[in-house]
Amino acid sequence: VTIFAGRKLAVVGAGLSGLATARSLQEGGADVVLWDDKDAGRAQAAAAGFTVEDLSEADLGAFAALVLAPGIPLTHPEPHWSVKSARAGIEVIGDVELFFRAREASGVDCKVVAITGTNGKSTTTALTAHLLESAGRDVALGGNIGNAVLDLAPFAQERIYVLELSSYQIDLTPSLKPDAAALLNITPDHLDRHGSLEGYASVKARIFAQLAPDATAVIGVDDVPCRAIAETLQDSYAVKRISISGTVQNGVWASDATLMEMEGGKEVARAALAGVGSLRGAHNWQNAATAYALARSQGVEPGVLQEGLRSFGGLAHRMEQVGRAGKVLFVNDSKATNADAAGKALGSFDTIYWIVGGVAKEGGLAGLEFFYPRIARAYLIGEASDAFAGQLGDAIPHIACETLDRAVELAAADASQSQADEPVVLLSPACASFDQYPNFAKRGDAFKELVMQRNGVTSLSE
Ligand code: ADP
Repeated sequence: VTIFAGRKLAVVGAGLSGLATARSLQEGGADVVLWDDKDAGRAQAAAAGFTVEDLSEADLGAFAALVLAPGIPLTHPEPHWSVKSARAGIEVIGDVELFFRAREASGVDCKVVAITGTNGKSTTTALTAHLLESAGRDVALGGNIGNAVLDLAPFAQERIYVLELSSYQIDLTPSLKPDAAALLNITPDHLDRHGSLEGYASVKARIFAQLAPDATAVIGVDDVPCRAIAETLQDSYAVKRISISGTVQNGVWASDATLMEMEGGKEVARAALAGVGSLRGAHNWQNAATAYALARSQGVEPGVLQEGLRSFGGLAHRMEQVGRAGKVLFVNDSKATNADAAGKALGSFDTIYWIVGGVAKEGGLAGLEFFYPRIARAYLIGEASDAFAGQLGDAIPHIACETLDRAVELAAADASQSQADEPVVLLSPACASFDQYPNFAKRGDAFKELVMQRNGVTSLSE
């Protein structure tokens, strides 16, 4: 990024994206000062050779701009970063903003496809990239998934950047100008930063604020806030609606594991998701329909998309099919750190040996009662064990296992005795992991290892 050459920039947050930002700005000739609230972050920044200064107390007037890493709340610490920068009269931006300004300055005619929403962002982003790659396109995938945007391959003609954007990132990207953009869904989440559902929805809607006139806006219309956004956009853009609850005039709707592409109320193509393990469950049909519409917007033909959908391997830790032993399927959904996400997994299988627990969120398992008939037995792990045993009561059989190790052992043994067509041993913990693991990925890795160590398990990963 050379747009700040010769100027002084403040970068706050020394995680992967903060370090990528600092590196990119510095290589582009800017004078960068990095700060992180945490000792570990500061140590990393210093080890990478950057100037580290306490910016929380500093007068920011000396800087051309403040670049905040995603995930750093504007409202933390006191006084807020937004207040401090406003006082100093400088702008607060994120790395995605730098990316868009650098693209503009480069004059290179590459494309950007941006994806946001409350749930399903990573799956949809990875699938969109996979579909475009299957069609032989040159794709760079990043943002809130995988590589930071400023770590992606340099701008090149014909290259398509497929970016997952969180609402935090959109917030800090006034120049956001994608060539196609998708909003999957909006449900209450992250209201701490955006204040209200309306505030949150208006930030998400900004993904469409500066679309080029010929760009495509893809919007899931199964929730009220998104439907309203689709209404306001439809006069200005080619709006493609996505639904898993009924047909649409223009866009893609899904029913019974089949995607239907619609134009002017007529079906023009369809694609089957049946048998694609990584796209199981109605929520994944929403993700697949969205990715399909985005890939179509970039000129990929339906036949090619069908092939791409079939070969999608899915993302680790999200309903990831790990292995099979006879009829028993082992599924790693460690990413389900709350009851809502666990519900998606529970709704996707019929006979479930459910490994659940860790550090519970508020409400615990509330709201999951609907799925109890599908659960053969629950295997409780971690801190939440006692509370969950109380919540489950007599509704489904459960057993305290303490560790994942023992839970896998017991669940696999029980499932192997099942008469069901496809008994599933499912890790979908509805809990954070930090009582027993550093993060959800380590918990999922541990599960996969335990499964693969078992006799007679064949791997389902490539
Ligand atoms: P994100 O990146 O938005 O967190 P992911 O693709 O990583 O989303 O999926 C995280 C979890 O959210 C999944 O394990 C699944 O339980 C749930 N999920 C995925 N897609 C959807 C969707 N379209 N609607 C609702 N929930 C979803």
